[in-house]
Amino acid sequence: MISEMTERPIAHWRGQERYGNELLESLTIIFKSGGCSWSKCRMCSYRHERYSGQQPADILSRYLSAQLSWVLNHYNFEEYQMVKIFTSGSFFDPQEIPPGFLYEVAKTFKGKLIIAETRPEFIETEVISRFIDTIDNGNWKIPLYCAIGLETSNDRIREKSINKGFTFSDFIKSAEILHSAGAGVKAYLLFKPLFLTESEAMIDMKISIKEAMTYADIISMNPCTVQRYTELEYYWKRGAYRPPYLWSVLSLLMDAPVHITCDPLGGGQKRGPHNCGKCDYEIVKAIRDYSLNADRDLIRTMLEIPCNCKKEWEYVLSSEKNYCLPLTL
Ligand code: SF4
Ligand SMILES: [Zn+2]
Repeated sequence: MISEMTERPIAHWRGQERYGNELLESLTIIFKSGGCSWSKCRMCSYRHERYSGQQPADILSRYLSAQLSWVLNHYNFEEYQMVKIFTSGSFFDPQEIPPGFLYEVAKTFKGKLIIAETRPEFIETEVISRFIDTIDNGNWKIPLYCAIGLETSNDRIREKSINKGFTFSDFIKSAEILHSAGAGVKAYLLFKPLFLTESEAMIDMKISIKEAMTYADIISMNPCTVQRYTELEYYWKRGAYRPPYLWSVLSLLMDAPVHITCDPLGGGQKRGPHNCGKCDYEIVKAIRDYSLNADRDLIRTMLEIPCNCKKEWEYVLSSEKNYCLPLTL
């Protein structure tokens, strides 16, 4: 017998999220699930947060329902309009989240605006349409957004630096399915995956934003963080990786053709995007504020902070070289 008292999500918190020109109250839930079916991305440790062993669908559904009840008991339903759902992989993967639970979530949060993360291969017209029919009460023109970790529009970087296991054209196909079913698309882009210099990563992000904009309604940039027990951590511990500079993040947000949201996780710490330690705190705060208020003057002001590490960043941009393969054998 599963004790409903002991089952709770991996994480949950209340916050705010910018949606168009509005600021919505949000609830974020990270459900512990059957785990990511792919489980191979070089920078990801979320995939380790799963129920161990293969759980039969009915047991998994009971665990998940218990987590959902826990959330409903701890947050006042009337106080948030948006629900952001993450799992240890993909919300729409039937192996990870039994389909019955999908519709339990949709019924429970009827009338809310849902953002749910998933890999593109799990986006199917029938599943998405049924989810929308269940959740929709007319409150929102688009009641569901699927968040896809596209990471970059460059297939070579996605394959070699991330090992993501899908292509840009897979993302485009899923975006088309979502739009025809009446759902929206949120693209997550990863800033500075493994094996890129700071300037290569900036070029990749600029191109990716432009190319993803055609298909995504919302774009969010994740500056890379070194998570534990990952391949990225292996390289980082050997001095072969540095998380991105916050100067780069500011500069990308400043130049982006659309508003990009960004929550620099681990910002200012060794494992997260960081500068010198002196200027980090106010820059991280400004980036978080900018995600909510879209005030580019704030970003401009931050770029003008007189900190000595800016010269270091400029030097890195101009002089850092990628791995030097043997020129001859
Ligand atoms: S990043 Fe997403 S798709 Fe990749 S292993 Fe982690 S959970 Fe799975
Ligand atoms: Zn500094």
